[in-house]
Amino acid sequence: MEQAQRMLKEIYGFDSFRKGQQDIIEGLLEGKDTLAILPTGGGKSVCYQLPAILLPGTTIVVSPLISLMKDQVDALGRLGVQAAYLNSSLDAAAYRDVVRNTAQGVYKLLYVAPERLDGTMFESLASQMHIPLIAIDEAHCVSQWGHDFRPSYRQLAGWIGRLENRPPVAAFTATATPEVSDDISAMLGLRKPNVFVTGFARTNLSLSVVTGTDRRKFLRDYVAQRQDQSGIIYTATRKEAEEVYADLTRLGVSAGKYHGGLGDDDRSEAQEKFRFDEARVMVATNAFGMGIDKPNVRYVVHWQMPSDVESYYQEAGRAGRDGEESECVLLFEPQDVQVQRFLIERGTTDPDRQRIQLNKLYTMMHYSRTEKCLLQFIVSYFGEADVPECGKCSNCLDQSEKLDMTEDARKALSCVGRLKGRFGIALASKVLKGSREKRILEFGLDRLSTYGLLRDWVEKDITDWLYWLVAEGYMRISEGEFPTVSLTAEALPVLEGSKTVFRRRSMASKRRSASGSG
Ligand code: ADP
Repeated sequence: MEQAQRMLKEIYGFDSFRKGQQDIIEGLLEGKDTLAILPTGGGKSVCYQLPAILLPGTTIVVSPLISLMKDQVDALGRLGVQAAYLNSSLDAAAYRDVVRNTAQGVYKLLYVAPERLDGTMFESLASQMHIPLIAIDEAHCVSQWGHDFRPSYRQLAGWIGRLENRPPVAAFTATATPEVSDDISAMLGLRKPNVFVTGFARTNLSLSVVTGTDRRKFLRDYVAQRQDQSGIIYTATRKEAEEVYADLTRLGVSAGKYHGGLGDDDRSEAQEKFRFDEARVMVATNAFGMGIDKPNVRYVVHWQMPSDVESYYQEAGRAGRDGEESECVLLFEPQDVQVQRFLIERGTTDPDRQRIQLNKLYTMMHYSRTEKCLLQFIVSYFGEADVPECGKCSNCLDQSEKLDMTEDARKALSCVGRLKGRFGIALASKVLKGSREKRILEFGLDRLSTYGLLRDWVEKDITDWLYWLVAEGYMRISEGEFPTVSLTAEALPVLEGSKTVFRRRSMASKRRSASGSG
């Protein structure tokens, strides 16, 4: 490892390893299969290039991104490392040269497009090589659960399996929920891999969730207080993008707009103006994203919640690319969930896809309601453990008193328990409220002992309370078209009286006053 440290300095000029790099490299030098989930820009190249340089033979790097291969090979060349690539961009003569050099063991790294691996030509080449390591970039392409499935990746496992002395395999990806990483591991046939998830915590971002407020007023004030700063406002629909844009423009804010309903010219003009700080604020739908890499975005406000935590973190993460302190604000109202649910249901008819997306939506909703550290919530969603509280998100900064809500929790949980997982949150709220609605009477739910236990509450607050209990893990919502609510094991200690439930006064009262006024 000392040698790796020295090489890092000598070859790359870096003083120290980033979080994760050292452990990944150590494992690879010991011959361990590895699955590394590092965010974009996290520094994965070093993770396989350094072992490739240190190990005897030629490391094969599988990558689907032909244009990046050339960049990487050129960059390695500048560092004095012999490397080459095989893909469809080479003409026949160049291809032959690379093959010949490879057979002679000239290269430390050979980048290969996945579709090149299949075929007798490559197999015979591989049999002449000494391969100490196979690195697979963009490994999520092998999983149908990932967002970029590529059939050519499915051949990989077979090809690796046919190699005479199967070398260690290192798979890299920037996006994998635990579900996708399990799938990657299985599809690639990784053997007891070391799994690393690291670097997801963007500590220069201060996250906050704002709820129970007038969005328009909030945004006007927020932008006005940040006159000289660059920011992005994300809306869920084109219509809202237009409205928010019009509102800010009316107030004299130099804003641009960007959504899928605008022509190419309008969009690229808006993007350029934003890039060069002529437009200070960009109001956009999620169509605005690909290819923006503006370093000095100081804030990203979400006018509405997006459909999943992946999208949220990707969009919010466009703030603070330069590493400077930046803010990410999510404006949340419970009814926003319905908008997203509608978009999902309209967007796909495939029941599996719908189920997956609705589940992701619920996680996003839990983010909006949790009282835990928001950064920790997101990072642990991506599977990274042991990240300390950020100390600056709206939850970490919330000093408000914690109310003992155990009695109300017990009422709600015992009611949900008695409904035996047959009904959704809306109906459970009505039972707790003591509603005389037809459905309640038809099912005889007015005869439950828990009927009307929260009759003093506004029904909206009961619904909110139930969702909060879901977000905190005391209950769960089922998947599917008609989601029902039921208790989890966490509810038992509360029902038995051995656990107390606290809720921040700010959370409880904000909702109270918001629904009280409407
Ligand atoms: P990705 O994970 O997106 O492939 P790269 O490997 O391209 O990321 O690395 C992202 C950037 O971080 C590069 O500019 C790289 O030079 C830099 N980098 C990687 N490792 C280190 C390190 N240990 N110290 C400083 N900079 C590093």
